Amino acid sequence: MRVRAPSMLIAVVTFAMPLAAQQIRPRPAEGREPDLPVPSIREYKPRSTLVVPAHLVPRAKFPAIDLHGHPPTLNSNEVIERVGASMDSLNLQVIINTLSSSGDRLTQQIAAVRASRYKDRFVMFTNVNLRDVGPGSGAKIAAQLEADIKAGAVGVGEIGKGFGLGIKKADGTRLTLDDPELDIVWETAARLKIPVFIHVGDPSEFFQPLDYHNERWLEQAIYPERRYQDRSRFPAFEDLMAERNRLFARHPNTIWILAHLGWHANDLARLGRMFDSLPNLYSEVGAVLYDIGRQPRTAHDFFIKYQDRLLFAKDAFQPDEYPYYWRVFETNDEYFDYYRDYHAFWKLYGIGLPDPVLKKLYFGNALKLVPAIPRGAFPK
Ligand SMILES: [Zn+2]
Repeated sequence: MRVRAPSMLIAVVTFAMPLAAQQIRPRPAEGREPDLPVPSIREYKPRSTLVVPAHLVPRAKFPAIDLHGHPPTLNSNEVIERVGASMDSLNLQVIINTLSSSGDRLTQQIAAVRASRYKDRFVMFTNVNLRDVGPGSGAKIAAQLEADIKAGAVGVGEIGKGFGLGIKKADGTRLTLDDPELDIVWETAARLKIPVFIHVGDPSEFFQPLDYHNERWLEQAIYPERRYQDRSRFPAFEDLMAERNRLFARHPNTIWILAHLGWHANDLARLGRMFDSLPNLYSEVGAVLYDIGRQPRTAHDFFIKYQDRLLFAKDAFQPDEYPYYWRVFETNDEYFDYYRDYHAFWKLYGIGLPDPVLKKLYFGNALKLVPAIPRGAFPK
């Protein structure tokens, strides 16, 4: 075993400084101007000339559970058969339907799934109606939640990003994430031992000035409703995150599943600190593959360290997009395309997770948090 000289240690520590502290500045354009017409960022799609091994992964290596599923409404056998057939081809064993149904819409879907041959392949979360909250609302919401769980739902969510970003109280003010009126709702979930799956905010760049240094310029240019720069309408990103963290800290017995790696996939150490301080916090990887796949070494180490806290999820139900996730998690492939150019103009890399970690990510952690999922099809 070689012992490092103290000066080496100092060099390593300096290198590991968080990016934010280093004040990275974008490179200026080269001094000399092109003498050909300059393409727009939509037009410039250079083909890669890199030749390296490639391993496409059409089916997940282990049966997977999609914790953040938005399949079409599962109210007829025809829809269930169609969705089920694509799940079979992907080795997607179970979808947790987080489409936010409650009451009759929920029970109709539960009945249709139970009557189908895919009855072991879907479970339903319910949702809570957070509009026009005022005195006494919390107890009513908690009662509906309890009724939906009795009717067969096995969790709460997805609680959408409108909560925190826009939903108003009965008195016209913004409903904050940590509003005490809702304490009884989160405590009811804790008592029933069901997870609360919550999506808070959106990528931090959606809150930053929309200039040519904004990493998500193209997406915001295409989708005006993803621009949250107007502080008279939307809270600042960090204020929202602070509200979220107060909510979690206030209800340590509630099992929280934070959507989209909490929008901290671009700063995994930050999410790691949250995991360290909140033992009941979990998170899922849906719709942030572009961040996981651009930092294969950091992401690999993060997924190893927090292997008991991370769950596979996809969000939008597009069967042909799931294999990108399998490829990032299972292979060490280099410099391959992502499926959505406005999320990321960069390429992805595989993070090559070992089998025991893949099993936890794909199904083990979900089975632990949602014991109602039929387990027959999963390996030990
Ligand atoms: Zn969702």
